[in-house]
Amino acid sequence: MVKNKSKRKKINKPTSKKYKFYTISGDSVKRARSCPRCGPGVFLMVAKDRAYCGKCHYTEFSGKPAPVLEKAKPVVKGKK
Ligand SMILES: [Zn+2]
Repeated sequence: MVKNKSKRKKINKPTSKKYKFYTISGDSVKRARSCPRCGPGVFLMVAKDRAYCGKCHYTEFSGKPAPVLEKAKPVVKGKK
């Protein structure tokens, strides 16, 4: 058997799903929450009670703070 080193099975990269974070309504584009550390273009994964950046591991809690622990200052939402 001859080893064929040069040929590799081509595997396509998964399609970027970044478009899902944009919603076009009329003339304006709505963007999902982006990471304050990484800047626009890096979106936060949104769970039911928190938002998380997969790039820098920034986590932002929304809604009720965690029941455990001492009273932490609430996360400012929609800071601008
Ligand atoms: Zn980030």
